Order: sequence, then structure tokens, then C-alpha cells
Amino acid sequence: MSSAVQSSAAPDGRSSPSDPVLIAGAGPVGLCTALTLARFGVPSLVLETEAERGADYFRETGSKAICFQRDVLDVFDRLGVAAPLVAEGTTWTTARTYYREHEVRTVTFPGGATGTASELPPWINISQARVEQELLRRAEAEQLITLRYGHRVTALHEHAGHVTVETDGEHGHGTARGSHLVGADGPRSAVRHLLGIGFPGESFADRFLICDIRAELPFPNERRFFFDPEWNPGRQVLLHQCPDSTWRIDWQVSEDYDLAEERASGALEARIRKIVGERPYELVWLSVYRFHERCAERFRVGRVFLAGDAAHLYAPFGARGLNSGVQDAENLGWKLACTRTSATGPRAAETLLDSYHDERWAAARENLRVTGDTMRFLVPHSEENRRCRRETLELAVTDPGARSRIDSGKLAEPYWYPGSSLTTPPAVSEPIPAEPGQSRPPVPGVICPDGPCRVPGRPEVTRLRQLFGGGFTVLTADPEHARALADAMTGTPLPVAVYALSDIDVEGTLATALRGGTGTTHVVRPDAHLCAVLPDADSRTVRAAVLRACGRPVGVPEGAP
Ligand SMILES: Cc1cc2nc3c(=O)[nH]c(=O)nc-3n(C[C@H](O)[C@H](O)[C@H](O)COP(=O)(O)OP(=O)(O)OC[C@H]3O[C@@H](n4cnc5c(N)ncnc54)[C@H](O)[C@@H]3O)c2cc1C
Repeated sequence: MSSAVQSSAAPDGRSSPSDPVLIAGAGPVGLCTALTLARFGVPSLVLETEAERGADYFRETGSKAICFQRDVLDVFDRLGVAAPLVAEGTTWTTARTYYREHEVRTVTFPGGATGTASELPPWINISQARVEQELLRRAEAEQLITLRYGHRVTALHEHAGHVTVETDGEHGHGTARGSHLVGADGPRSAVRHLLGIGFPGESFADRFLICDIRAELPFPNERRFFFDPEWNPGRQVLLHQCPDSTWRIDWQVSEDYDLAEERASGALEARIRKIVGERPYELVWLSVYRFHERCAERFRVGRVFLAGDAAHLYAPFGARGLNSGVQDAENLGWKLACTRTSATGPRAAETLLDSYHDERWAAARENLRVTGDTMRFLVPHSEENRRCRRETLELAVTDPGARSRIDSGKLAEPYWYPGSSLTTPPAVSEPIPAEPGQSRPPVPGVICPDGPCRVPGRPEVTRLRQLFGGGFTVLTADPEHARALADAMTGTPLPVAVYALSDIDVEGTLATALRGGTGTTHVVRPDAHLCAVLPDADSRTVRAAVLRACGRPVGVPEGAP
């Protein structure tokens, strides 16, 4: 049997505006990509190798990711799925690290612990399965998204102006045509293999036992990491609270660890009892993992892109895998939407699509650097590294100066794009602090700060970042300047909304957070990154910054091919 999944050729055989973007994989990154495209009115066709996913699938699937970072919750908010996840998730603000019985490092993330509508918490814990369930619910309700289960992508062909893929599965052989293809098909990505893109890096022999148990435990709601606790001597344990009285426990175990044997001998029960004591508990899920640190050589080849685990794999200490995959999806989604309008010409489209690789590949390299350092500290492989780690931990008990050298996982945060070709550089650049938990200055490249906000006639808007996502956003101090800027923004590839801070600010909080003088204009991309901060800018300068962020090369006049 053969199924033609989609066909909408334009008469000249090139991409038609109704060609969907093809997405391989209905995992969280594939679904976020589809939802971002839908926000811009772009249709997508999601091809998923597995069978249709109902409530049983989400109930029975163990959760890989559990920790979701505030800026990613913001992306979820733009995609319409954050509210139930934030309401249900367990909020935490503090990460503590212990060496034996001593607390040796504490990081507290600022603000927003309440989880109220106007403030997102810095972290929530919730199962990846619940996140996927909400994304799927939203995708199923979206007319622009077509989901095809039982369709495994097996071949791809790039043509002038469009791509086709071949699929097999329960529906037999099929073909699908689209304007572009996004490989969000996970670590063993067929799309990556079909493109012949290498996936260099390393895989660690060390093993980690991950257990989710349900129990009423008297522990604080914090991330707690233990080096060498008396109940796992010589190794480490990570403990996290999740909703529904569920606790995630992650033990480092030996390379030859045998789960079946440990279960059969009762050693697993004894291992868990060392943490829960005599309290009753239910084993919800468990698995043994080996971790990988890998990055695809390229994230773009022509009309084909890689995102999420298809593009990069990190050890999970620091929660950088899915959190960064969601940011890949949003980064790629708005750029694909922007180029499909073609309003800035083919050169702009090339620059913009290349910037997906440039920005997200740089983010992946940084995530690899950070998680690689963590793995070297957690599982040192040379005698020298082991000695160094022991000395650092012992010294940190008495010497606060040694504590910053302890690495139990540097928690995820968005990557910044100050050097991106889409970012208008500031006249004077400012260093961005790298310590976890510190807020970043509102300079070009970083995510725009959030804060309370009101928009006349839109009672649902309570914070600034709720204005972002549908196009570019321009913020300026004065209503008259805002009107002049709005007039100058006609004919841009994506919509530009201009706001005067004096109309939307609540008690000057935004002006303080943005640190702008009265003449400063902030330009925000659809993914909430500031792409320009312009003092005393006229309309032409602001328009040039928007077009630059849409890929128009600097110095190329408008209207040039
Ligand atoms: C133990 C553990 C803990 C983790 N904890 C965290 C955490 O706390 N926070 C965090 O951010 N990240 C965490 N991660 C990482 C996170 O789980 C992954 O980054 C995330 O699953 C990646 O999502 P994805 O959509 O890219 O890929 P996947 O979730 O792998 O989805 C890929 C989809 O593609 C489908 N597919 C595969 N091949 C094809 C094909 N040929 N054609 C069509 N469809 C195909 C698959 O069936 C699947 O549905 C953790 C990972 C592990 C292992």
C-alpha cells in the first residue's frame, strides 16, 4: 500500500505557499517547531515513526527530562501550553550541593517563586511526558498542523525550491512534499544520517540509575546533590521533588551495574530504603542510563535542518537537553516563517537561515563545554582528576573561596547572541556575567527582561514577555516616537508591534529593568532576544535593525535582490 501524505506543487515545480514545513519526529522539539510555525500562519506536516499517542502512552512512559527553566516556560507560554504545566509543576529556586554531611555550595535563582500568572518561576519540575502531552493537545487543536503517526522518514530528496521525503511504517510506503524539512527525530536521527552529517563527541562508560518513587518524604523542595554521601559511598546522588509526591533519585553506579540482579537480590530495595527510611513508597519508574556529549557538524544543509537531540546530546546534569531543544525550535520556527514571506529577498533568506546554524550551533558548543566540565568533575577518569576533585571538595568544607570550583551541574540558561549577524552591536559593549542565578544586563543578544505590564484593552497581558512571539516588538519611551516608528514599519517580513513604555509600564518597573534613558529604543525578536538597543534612534535606524534581524545583510539597500 502507498500513501501520498501531502502534495501541493506550484505550477513551476517550486515551493508553493501552501507547501507545509515537514517535521520528522513528534517529540517535544518537533511539536514546539510545529506550534511556532502555526503562530505565524505556516502549515506543517509532522511525521512520527511511532503509533498514535493516547493517554496511556503518557501515563506509562517514563520521564527523561523533569527540570524546565523559566525562559523555556516563557516559550511554552507563547505556544499556549505553560499555564497547566506551571500550575501542576513543582516550583523550586534553590540548588544545594553537599560533600558527605557538609553543605558546600548553594545557588539561589532570583524571584518569581510564586508561579502566579504574572511571574514565571525560575524552575519547575514536571515530567517530560506531561509536557509532551500538553504540546500534543495544543498541536491537535491547531488546524495548520497535520500529525501523521506510523510514518518513519527513510529517505529525503532536495529539489530546487522544495524537499520531498519517503516514509514507511504501518501505512506502507509514502511520500511527502514540503518547503523545508526539520529533523527533530531524536538522538538516532534518520535525517542526520541521510544528510551524511557526522555526530562527533564522546559517550561515557559510567552509568546512572534513575528512579522515580512516590512517597511522603520530609525533604525540602530544592535540587539537592550529594557527593560521597554515607548511603552511596564514593559516588554521588541527585534528588529532585516532582508533582504528586514523586521524587526523582539519580545514583551514580558502577560501570558493570546490573539492574536485574540488584532487583532480584533485594539490593535495590535496600538502596531506596537508605533514602526513604521506613516510610511506604511506590516505585513509579526506573532506568539505567549512559550519557553522551555530541554535536552534529552542521545544523543546516540547504532546506533541511536539525533540532533538539537530533542536533546535540548533553549529559543531563544542568537540564540543558530539552530546554535548549525548545530554544532551537523557536529560533528555527520564526526564521522559517520569515523567509517564506520572501519580502527581504533571497540573500536575506540565506543569511537568516544560516543564522539558525550559527546561533544554535554556538549554543550547543557552549552547552557541551559546560556539561563536559561537569562530567569531568562528576566522573574523573585520571588519578590526577580524582585527586583534584577530592581536594576541592575537602577544601570547600572550610574555605568558601573553593566552592565555586565544585561542579554538580551548571543549570541551564538561554544562550546569548551578542555576536550574531542579526544583532546590531551596541556602541560600547558591556560584559555579561556568567555566574548562575545572576540576572543578565539588557544588552543586544540577551533575552529581554520581563516585568509587570498592562496594555489598554488587553486585560490578559500582565507581563512584558506576553507581548512577544508573533513578530518583532519595539519598545520606546514616548508615545509620539512610538507612533512615528509604527508608521515606518510597513512592509517588513514579519509584523512589528511598537509600544510606548509610558503606556504599558507599571510604576516604572520596565524602564528600570530595560535601563534605557528616555531616548532609548529596544528591538525584540520573536524569540524574545533583544536584537538592538538604540540610543536616540530615528525611524530609519530602527527599521534597519529590524531588517538586519530578518537577515538583510548590512549595507545592502532595501529592495536590492
Ligand atoms: C535521564 C535523562 C534526564 C533528562 N533530564 C532533562 C532535564 O531535566 N531537562 C532537560 O532539558 N532535558 C533533559 N533530558 C534530555 C531530554 O530528555 C531530551 O533532550 C529530549 O527528549 C529531546 O527531545 P527531542 O524532541 O529532540 O527528541 P525525542 O524526545 O527523542 O523525540 C524524537 C521523536 O522522533 C521520532 N522519530 C525517530 N526517528 C524517526 C523517523 N525516522 N521518522 C519519524 N519520526 C522519528 C521518535 O519516535 C520521537 O517521537 C534528559 C535526558 C535523559 C536521558
